[in-house]
Amino acid sequence: MTAMTATLIRGGWVLTAATPRPAASGAGTADGAATPAVVRHGAVLIADGVVQAVGTFAELSAAHPEARVHGGPNDIVTPGFVNTHGHFSEGLITGIASQYTLWEWISALINPVSPHLDREMAYTGTLLAGMQMLQSGITTANDMFVTDPGIREPITPGVVEALDELNLRGVVSFGAGDMGSTRGIDAEFDEHEALREAAAASRLSTFRVGIGAVGGQSDAMFERSIELAVNGVGGGGHGTDAGPAGFGVHIHLQEIREEVTATMQRKGLTAIGYSEKAGLFEAPTLAAHCVWLDRADRDILARNRVGVAHNPVSNMILASGVAPVAELRQLGVDVGIGVDGPASNDSQDMMQAVKSAALLARVHHQQATAMSAEEAFELATIGGARALRMQDTIGSLEPGKAADLIVFDGDAPALANVHDPFQAIVFAAGARDIASVWVDGRPSVMAGEVVTVDARDTVERSRPLARRLVRAAGLGHLSELAR
Ligand SMILES: [Zn+2]
Repeated sequence: MTAMTATLIRGGWVLTAATPRPAASGAGTADGAATPAVVRHGAVLIADGVVQAVGTFAELSAAHPEARVHGGPNDIVTPGFVNTHGHFSEGLITGIASQYTLWEWISALINPVSPHLDREMAYTGTLLAGMQMLQSGITTANDMFVTDPGIREPITPGVVEALDELNLRGVVSFGAGDMGSTRGIDAEFDEHEALREAAAASRLSTFRVGIGAVGGQSDAMFERSIELAVNGVGGGGHGTDAGPAGFGVHIHLQEIREEVTATMQRKGLTAIGYSEKAGLFEAPTLAAHCVWLDRADRDILARNRVGVAHNPVSNMILASGVAPVAELRQLGVDVGIGVDGPASNDSQDMMQAVKSAALLARVHHQQATAMSAEEAFELATIGGARALRMQDTIGSLEPGKAADLIVFDGDAPALANVHDPFQAIVFAAGARDIASVWVDGRPSVMAGEVVTVDARDTVERSRPLARRLVRAAGLGHLSELAR
């Protein structure tokens, strides 16, 4: 069926992130049998951007002698990581203002910068952050671009352009909010529409309705956002398992205690309670953070199938708190891992975020069993896909799913002796041990280097843009570049 373009990606271990099916009797070939979670001396056959088969290297290479072989007998092959939360709008402001907690950080850094972003900055910042993501194994990036719309041409299509160029799958949104804006609601929805059109025309991006936070939108705007997310306009909202109508939502919910207090005072409900009452969760919703939750909030997330993005590194940098990941998972909530933005992590390194998720759980509960390496790996792959309701297309290596995968270099010092492949990946390996990354069946990283865009040229082009941005924002007290 696919002899012309088939590639066999081989490893001593293939970790598929497939969920074992109880009655499974087959051994994970393309004949419809269940794919096992771990295949020793395995391989993944990809063609036409799709996983065709998963099995042993011996059987697949015998059945497909025409296929090109990539990877070696010691390598570890995994699904690409699903980054469930980030902000490409921060691509040029990284390593700055980490002395603040969230609301101080927003007013000291994000608010001054937002009006001065332009499309070229969006494009270049996305390339910078996206290259780091790819080199750390991310193959899908769920993003919320934060800017002030209506000042100049729509900015966010620059994100989609960069993602297609990088060969990085995107779930793109604009973090809209009219509170404190002088440009009105229509400017916000014009930016949504420009981004939706760009995503609809793109190869790899799908659109979601971004809502910065409940407190950032007037009641009128929140209602209109829900209408767009639930019912959609203009078609193209096929990014989730919820059917063709709406687009889905990407929102921040209850990241810090102050947000809970402020929303209680304004609405008489938590942001989560208010969102449910307003009907937001009728759309597939990905909520970032969910750190400060009471029992009722957790139940609301569970019964509405709201996906949660856990961002351990940025939660620690901004001192926001510890999300109740174990409690949420016990209730059946789908949790994924996010790196969060370049200004609040600040690295765009998924390997750090995955390890941090396990470490934060362990130090918080003071239990070495609080989160296993295998659980952290699951959150970073199929867990994130479920949180985005994209588990039918990404998140595991199973026939029919997108050929998004990582090859770890099994001959690297950190992976010389694999006693347990999950512990090897989550605790011992780093982004330096990633040899290749494939998105939609095409390599974006080879021999550890991004091959789709020119890294050096992008870095050079970013420098005058970053300088112009922090100077226009008046950040001389925070940035050496603005002085
Ligand atoms: Zn965020």
